[in-house]
Amino acid sequence: MSYQVLARKWRPKTFREMAGQNHVLKALVNALDHDRLHHAYLFTGTRGVGKTTIARILAKCLNCEVGVSSEPCGQCNACVAINEGRFVDLLEVDAASRTKVEDTREILDNVQYTPSQGRYKVYLIDEVHMLSSSSFNALLKTLEEPPAHVKFLLATTDPQKLPATILSRCLQFNLKNLTPERIVDYLKTVLEHEMVQYDESSLWLLGRAADGSMRDALSLTDQAIAFGSGKLGEADVRQMLGTIDHNSVYRLIEALAGSDGAALLAVVADLAEMGADFPGVISELLVVMHRLAVAQTVPDGLDNSLGDRAKIIDLASKLAAEDVQFYYQIALAGRRDMGFAPDPRAGLEMLLLRMLAFKPQGVIDGPRQTLARPVAAVAEAAAPVKKPQTLDAAADAPSNIVDDVVVSTAKSYDDVTAAAAVPSREDVSTPVESPKSSSNAMLNVQENTVAIAERELAVKQVAAPPPKVVTPPVVETVHVAAEKVDPVEKPVAVSELPQPPVASKPVFTHEKIPFTSLNNAVWREQFDAFQLPGMLGSVAGHCQIAALTASSVAFNIDAANAALLNDRHVERLGELLSEYFGAPLAITVNIGDVAYETPAAFKQRCLDERLVVAKHALRTDVLVNRIIEEFDGVLDEESVRLVD
Ligand SMILES: [Zn+2]
Repeated sequence: MSYQVLARKWRPKTFREMAGQNHVLKALVNALDHDRLHHAYLFTGTRGVGKTTIARILAKCLNCEVGVSSEPCGQCNACVAINEGRFVDLLEVDAASRTKVEDTREILDNVQYTPSQGRYKVYLIDEVHMLSSSSFNALLKTLEEPPAHVKFLLATTDPQKLPATILSRCLQFNLKNLTPERIVDYLKTVLEHEMVQYDESSLWLLGRAADGSMRDALSLTDQAIAFGSGKLGEADVRQMLGTIDHNSVYRLIEALAGSDGAALLAVVADLAEMGADFPGVISELLVVMHRLAVAQTVPDGLDNSLGDRAKIIDLASKLAAEDVQFYYQIALAGRRDMGFAPDPRAGLEMLLLRMLAFKPQGVIDGPRQTLARPVAAVAEAAAPVKKPQTLDAAADAPSNIVDDVVVSTAKSYDDVTAAAAVPSREDVSTPVESPKSSSNAMLNVQENTVAIAERELAVKQVAAPPPKVVTPPVVETVHVAAEKVDPVEKPVAVSELPQPPVASKPVFTHEKIPFTSLNNAVWREQFDAFQLPGMLGSVAGHCQIAALTASSVAFNIDAANAALLNDRHVERLGELLSEYFGAPLAITVNIGDVAYETPAAFKQRCLDERLVVAKHALRTDVLVNRIIEEFDGVLDEESVRLVD
């Protein structure tokens, strides 16, 4: 007897022999056993999943001489004739072979004639969506008024292409792709019957290559038996299918988990020796990465469809979830770029080394751009450009480390000290601000008392110079003390300095600010300390100090913001400030020039600067730049937001 191909020999002859599609079989068995048959069935699903096999079994069920049932006898003339493909009342039409379009039409035109041999005339139309429009019309006409002796069994891989008029007249069954597990099970049964030796791993390869189709699985098995001279070995099957040894992929992943570059290259060398298809290796890597991610995220969702569940779970425990995601992304990009690589092997090697080089955890050890910069470093960086230098700030590092360069008006250490020792109204040098403040503004000299207070603070600082300040401060600007508060130049914007931007920030002090310390710098930067509520806070935020006496503060507010101001605000401001400083204060607010930066403007500038700093940090961040380079990305700076 000549060799009969497995797909044909093992084509199921009863519903019971079918592998899978239980949801369809159950419905059909019920209909047959309870005599509730529809006149038209539509079986959909990809190729080789059993559409025509089911239809042929159904034809037997309907025409078995023993009677209509879900279990045809298989022995009677009808059953045998159908099995052998020569039953006259089973009219099989393959609509895909369009050579016989007119025949199809003719066949359908003869639908009214009673069956010559069987109980039912069964029309099995495969790939029905490919019928010509005239054939569709003939079919539709019949489906609208089906003769009692006719059954239509339609099959298609593409039900979307069927006219709705046809679809609505059929009972539709969707056949599922067969899982590799089911295919492997079935292959085992077949091979044991056929007494063919096999490695189970070779069956998994075949099961996967069949892509859901039992017919393909059996055809491939036939080929593999021939290829392996009568037996199925994994190496042979792999070679036949041109698939990559999964063990190589697992070894690659092990090497990645162990950050072992040498091992990675060794596996690639092995693959090269085996003549592996390198783009195929990347695809396999992607398949395994996907399974690893499933194993890590939804362990129960991991099937054993590739026969590798245990291995995957083991590997999943060795890798961080973000690494898996990262590797997947790199492999995707690498597969896309494979065509640009000098050769496929180099492409794969670079891809693997890239995974290693950019491994998320690895970056932490690498160079990194941080937002915070030590003040001393900032001050040093500023020195060569002859900008005013810091006198303080480093004193309370690291809390002030992101603060700006503080500009001093002191001529030198000695000057400050001398001036402090002999306080006088004409004193020419005073440190800018209290040590807590972090302004980059030039000194705004206050009334004598205020100036003295500030000098005292400065002296304290000078007495214990911060170790981080290496070079003594250099005098750059001198400001003369004045009776009144003079608006001075706007603060030097940090962003104008030729160095990485650093952001200003308001200081909220829990220590009580003495009235003698009050000046525009304090007002501006420690404004929150006064805890002015609601609308009063908003309005006062636009005010600056125009004049100070021991018992009064005159504020200025610009016209634009004065609209919100009313007498009640002024009154309440007086009450709250008197309460804060513990002394009755006469407060006035006049509409006038506001040359000095107000608390509100300062706050806004702080925010703007922080945004500048954040953008700069992102622009210069090593990791961000690597990601941009790697994925051909663009940093959308407009999307950068401050989070608090
Ligand atoms: Zn029979």
